[in-house]
Amino acid sequence: MRMDILTIFPDMFTGPFSESMIQKAQEKGLIQIRITDIRNYASDRHQTVDDYPFGGGAGMLMKPEPIFEAVDDICSEIQNPEEKPHIVMLCPQGEAFHQRKAESLALKKHLILICGHYEGIDERVRMHLVDDEISIGDYVLTGGELPAMVIVDAVSRLVPGVLGSSQSALQESFSEDLLDYPQFTRPREFRGLSVPDVLLSGDHERIRLWRRKEAIRKTWKRRPDLLRIDQMSDEDRKLFQEITNE
Ligand code: SAM
Repeated sequence: MRMDILTIFPDMFTGPFSESMIQKAQEKGLIQIRITDIRNYASDRHQTVDDYPFGGGAGMLMKPEPIFEAVDDICSEIQNPEEKPHIVMLCPQGEAFHQRKAESLALKKHLILICGHYEGIDERVRMHLVDDEISIGDYVLTGGELPAMVIVDAVSRLVPGVLGSSQSALQESFSEDLLDYPQFTRPREFRGLSVPDVLLSGDHERIRLWRRKEAIRKTWKRRPDLLRIDQMSDEDRKLFQEITNE
């Protein structure tokens, strides 16, 4: 999978993308990340990428031409017209990013992520260039670089082969509208705190049921908005009833 990031601060990506799983995934050729400096597409010698908003108002806006040209340049390398990249603009007004969105982006062959700055980006980019606008939360950051890193990280770990075990992405929080179950590692006893007996029982079916029940309990307590009680399997419904009766 290829991911192109358009930014005016390319150096911000050096650390996060040269460590841990993202670095390994690139080394293995599972993902290819390319950072493009939007300033390289500015037409003047000062490499201007921003300008005053028409109609007045505070702050500056990112100009459309360098962004359109950077995207055109990336697209010009593509041989097969059916492999048109999916173009995403990072934007606090966009669709809220969540695991389902990460899953759908992970199915794309090529993403282009456009990072805004200042007061944002000229509206024509949104209207005529991008396929998607994504927000990583209801707060305003100084730029789209951190959101782009969040998306690259969440999407990359869903690309087959990036995680050590393909199971680990299937069983974690949000994958089934449930939060992850509580996990414990050694030592069995630590400062008088012990691991639940069932996890030491070696009884795989009991452990599976306990984990399922605790995942439902955690979701019900912390994120009841995620629970789809009406769509629960008979087993989940029974576990849920046990929890509410306790
Ligand atoms: N004036 C804009 C508004 O009120 O919606 C905010 C612009 S913000 C200061 C500058 C850039 O940061 C945006 O263009 C976007 O790329 C990025 N950004 C800020 N917060 C974001 C968020 N929550 N999710 C995604 N991108 C964000």
